[in-house]
Amino acid sequence: MGIVKKLLLKYSKVTTVKLNANITPYYHIVSNENVSHIQHLYSYKNINQFEEDLIYLQEHYQVISPDKIVDEFHLKHQKKCILSFDDGLVENYTIILPLLEKYKIKAVFFINPSFIDNKVFLNKHLKSILIEELLKIPHNHIVWNKIKFSKSENLKNQVLKYELSNNQIFDLFDVIEFDFKEYLQERPIYMNKNQIQELIDKGHFIGGHTMTHPYLNNLNEDEQFAEITDSILWIKQYFKVDYNLFSFPYSDNYASKNLIKRLENWDKNMIIFGNSSYKKDVSKNIVQRFSAEKPIAPLKNIISTELIYMYYTKLVGKFKVKRK
Ligand SMILES: [Zn+2]
Repeated sequence: MGIVKKLLLKYSKVTTVKLNANITPYYHIVSNENVSHIQHLYSYKNINQFEEDLIYLQEHYQVISPDKIVDEFHLKHQKKCILSFDDGLVENYTIILPLLEKYKIKAVFFINPSFIDNKVFLNKHLKSILIEELLKIPHNHIVWNKIKFSKSENLKNQVLKYELSNNQIFDLFDVIEFDFKEYLQERPIYMNKNQIQELIDKGHFIGGHTMTHPYLNNLNEDEQFAEITDSILWIKQYFKVDYNLFSFPYSDNYASKNLIKRLENWDKNMIIFGNSSYKKDVSKNIVQRFSAEKPIAPLKNIISTELIYMYYTKLVGKFKVKRK
């Protein structure tokens, strides 16, 4: 979050904006616990905070399903909402699904097929666990030497910055005698196929989020296209859904105009979700979202912050998404 947005969020309680725009909040996780594989990456709402968001949503917005996006969502000032969740974390099923059922709200869940069933892992999730475990043994010099830490710098920043492959992290787990298998048995990180099927059976939507959640800027355009379309095809084949939904991992900043065009040629009805907040994009098939995950702010404050920020971007000429 940039400085301008942080400031706006601070004063969002006292600002009054007409909240009649369509909204697109997204989250990754909701939990009352310190989730080891997430807690050193970003903060998230607890169940009460999330439930307050849902109550606010239900009272003030009409949550629509993605098949209506193209027809309905781009009509301005309809107070429509599309709610979505990225990364396919197990809490989507254990915590979020029951709450959505309680308030009769339908959502879109974006998943990475490679992670389903907890055999392949997002590097950042493993890093967060490593940080948590290393913090418990701050004077372990064997680990220090192995990953060449300087003791002066903050451990968390170093681990996040340092390039460590998943296999290197597993080796370090062995060194510090951390039993990752046992960790997974107690708490799987991602949803399994049955849980995802239940989301679909209960009327929710599933979309692709690439196969392996790569940084798209590290891939060439053909590789980007394959990561994206493979994830959608996998979902179609396995869960027999008849729509194509996709959300960009990390950021949509690196998606070129040409990539978007190729995706639209591949399927003209495909809906592509970004996370650049309120911005004008190159195609009406792109839905830009904003994160509602910050636990310090109720959804209402986040919406007004995003809307005021939109006016700011218009003022300074940053309203249009720049695509190469
Ligand atoms: Zn993601």
